[in-house]
Amino acid sequence: MDREKIKQAVTLFLEGIGEDGNREGLIDTPERIAGMCEEIFGGIGTDATCHLSKTFSSELTNMVVEKDISFYSVCEHHLLPFFGKVHIGYIPDGKVVGLSKIARTVEVFAKRPQIQEQLTEQIAEAIQTVLKPKGVMVKIEAEHLCMSMRGVKKPGTITSSYTAKGIFETSQELRQMFMEMIR
Ligand code: ZN
Repeated sequence: MDREKIKQAVTLFLEGIGEDGNREGLIDTPERIAGMCEEIFGGIGTDATCHLSKTFSSELTNMVVEKDISFYSVCEHHLLPFFGKVHIGYIPDGKVVGLSKIARTVEVFAKRPQIQEQLTEQIAEAIQTVLKPKGVMVKIEAEHLCMSMRGVKKPGTITSSYTAKGIFETSQELRQMFMEMIR
């Protein structure tokens, strides 16, 4: 990440909105934002699937559900936060992965400029490709600050998205079971 470039951009941005970048409260803001970007955009250029490669063999054939994984991301259209919960269910096919690894995977994808539908898809795709379960389902519920503090201004509105892969695509019963388990 190019910290200098970020600092220059923030200085210019403050100027653009008509602020005085030299006043006390703003003088260190470019530096602060450069530091913050390393944290909140740390998923750029990081391989999200690396966390999923360490698996354990398992005879388990029941659905594994991990619900309420909290995440914070930034909408790529407005660079404002959107945040909420990710719920993931998968049906193992001979192997399982540590639950914390799934949360780590979510984090890598979330720490990039994102749109919710794409985040949902990328998480599911990564699990399906690397872990190769019989199927995976991902649901995300999130509040978008670009909807709450600007535009339609509807605070508290929750946007839901979901995707189903593998066996979940064809079985309504399994999709229903997942939805019940995360309720
Ligand atoms: Zn937005």
